[in-house]
Amino acid sequence: MADARSDDPRDPTSGPGTDAGARPAGSVAPVAPDLTDVELTDSPFSDFLGFELLLSDDDRALLGRVRAFMNREVEPIINDYWTRAAFPHELVPGIADLGIAGLAYDGPGCPARGALVDGMVAMELARVDPSIGTFMGVHGGLAMGSIQLCGSDEQRERWLPAMARMELIGAFGLTEPDVGSAISAGLATSARRDGDGWVLNGEKKWIGNAAFADLVIIWARDEDDGQVKGFVVEKDTEGMTFDKQEDKIALRVVQNAEVHLRDVRVPEENRLQKAESFRSTADVLRVTRMGVAWQAAGCARGAFEHALRYTKAREQFGRPIASFQLVQDLLVKMLGHVTAATAMNTRASQLQDAGLLRDEHASLCKAQATAKMRETVGWAREVLGGNGILLEHHVGRFVADAEAIYSYEGTREINTLIVGRAITGESAFV
Ligand SMILES: Cc1cc2nc3c(=O)[nH]c(=O)nc-3n(C[C@H](O)[C@H](O)[C@H](O)COP(=O)(O)OP(=O)(O)OC[C@H]3O[C@@H](n4cnc5c(N)ncnc54)[C@H](O)[C@@H]3O)c2cc1C
Repeated sequence: MADARSDDPRDPTSGPGTDAGARPAGSVAPVAPDLTDVELTDSPFSDFLGFELLLSDDDRALLGRVRAFMNREVEPIINDYWTRAAFPHELVPGIADLGIAGLAYDGPGCPARGALVDGMVAMELARVDPSIGTFMGVHGGLAMGSIQLCGSDEQRERWLPAMARMELIGAFGLTEPDVGSAISAGLATSARRDGDGWVLNGEKKWIGNAAFADLVIIWARDEDDGQVKGFVVEKDTEGMTFDKQEDKIALRVVQNAEVHLRDVRVPEENRLQKAESFRSTADVLRVTRMGVAWQAAGCARGAFEHALRYTKAREQFGRPIASFQLVQDLLVKMLGHVTAATAMNTRASQLQDAGLLRDEHASLCKAQATAKMRETVGWAREVLGGNGILLEHHVGRFVADAEAIYSYEGTREINTLIVGRAITGESAFV
C-alpha cells in the first residue's frame, strides 16, 4: 500500500515538527511491543488502526487466504447470482478448503481458532459479499453452534466433523411466520414425545440454507413441560417441506425458505441433549450475534472501499471527486464508522475468547455496528452519484443487503432493549 502522507505543504501531516515528518518515509511506529517487525502499512487501507495486527501470524495468513478467495472467486461472479437470486454452489468446495466453518468452536473436527479471528473472517466475507457471509453465519455459526453448545459429546462427534469439512450443510429454524422478536415466549412449533422419538408440527419462516441443507436445527416447544427444545431434522425426513422465499430485495443469494413441519418424526438421539429451555437457544444467539456485528462491519467496509476507489477515479470539474472537501467528509465519516465498529467488535470478541461475553455485550455491538453500517452504505452510494444504484459498482448491493443484516438476529430495537435491561435493571420489552 502506498504511504498516504504527501509533500503538500498544506497537509498537516507533512513537514518538520510533525510526528510523521520525523520518521523515514514509509515507516510507522510499532503499535505494540511484540509487533516491532510489522508495520501498519501491512494492513489493508481500511484496517486503519491495524486491528489485524492483534492476530497471530497464522491467523493473519488465514485472513489473507480468505481475502484472496473472496476477491478472486466471489466478487467477479456474485452480482450475476444476486440478480438471479441463485446460490453459487460451485463455491462451496473452495470455501471448505479455507477451513473456516465453525472456526471459533473447539468441538470434534472444528478448527478451534478463537472468536477474534472468527469475527475478522466473518468481516472479510461480508466485505466482498454479505450473502456469502450470511450463508457461513448460518452454517458455521448458528447450525454448528447449536450442536457445539447444546449437543451431547456423541452428537458433536456425529455431526460436527462433517459440517466443519462442509460435507454436511446446516440451517437454523427458529423464527416463525407469526412470531419473530417475541419468539422466546411466542414460539408455537410443537414437539410431542412419542415412544422413543418426537413428533414435530409447525411453521418456520426466513430459514437460510434450509431448502438445500443436509440438516435443519428446529426449535420447538415440548407439549409436556412447555420448554423450547432443539432437534436436528435431517434432509428428506418425511413431513418436512420447503417453500423458497421469492422476491427479496436484500441478500438475494441467500436461499431463505418457509419450512413446513407436518407430523415430522425425529428420534430421541436427534434431540439436542443439552438444550433444556430457550436459555440454550439464547446461548447460541449470543455468540452468533457477534458474528453479525462483524458482518455489519464488513458490509460497511466493503462499501467504503468501493467508494474510496471510485472517488479517486471519477473526475468532475476537471479534478478527482476525492479532492473535494465535502466528498472527503463523507469518506472520513465512513472510515470512522468502520473503525469504531471494528474496535467494539474486537474487544467483545476478546471477551468471548476469555469466556466473559454477556448477552448485552453482543447486543450492543450488533445494534451499534448495524446502525452505523446503514449510514455508511448510504454515504458510499451517495459519493457514487447515479452509478451508486448500478449493480456493476457493487455499492448498491451492499445498500440492499444492509437492510437484512440490520433486522436479523435481533432487530436494533430488541438488542437495544437487551442492553437497556442490563444497564437499568428494568425490562422494557412489553
Ligand atoms: C434475510 C433474513 C434471514 C434470516 N435468517 C433466519 C434464519 O436463518 N433462521 C431464523 O430462525 N430466522 C431468520 N431470520 C429471521 C430474523 O431473525 C427476524 O426477521 C428478526 O428476528 C425480526 O423478526 P420479525 O422479522 O418477525 O420482525 P417483528 O418481530 O415482527 O418486528 C417488527 C418491528 O417491530 C419491532 N418490535 C418488536 N417488538 C418490539 C418491542 N418490544 N419494542 C420495540 N419494538 C419492537 C421490531 O424491532 C421491528 O422493527 C432471517 C431474517 C431475514 C430478513
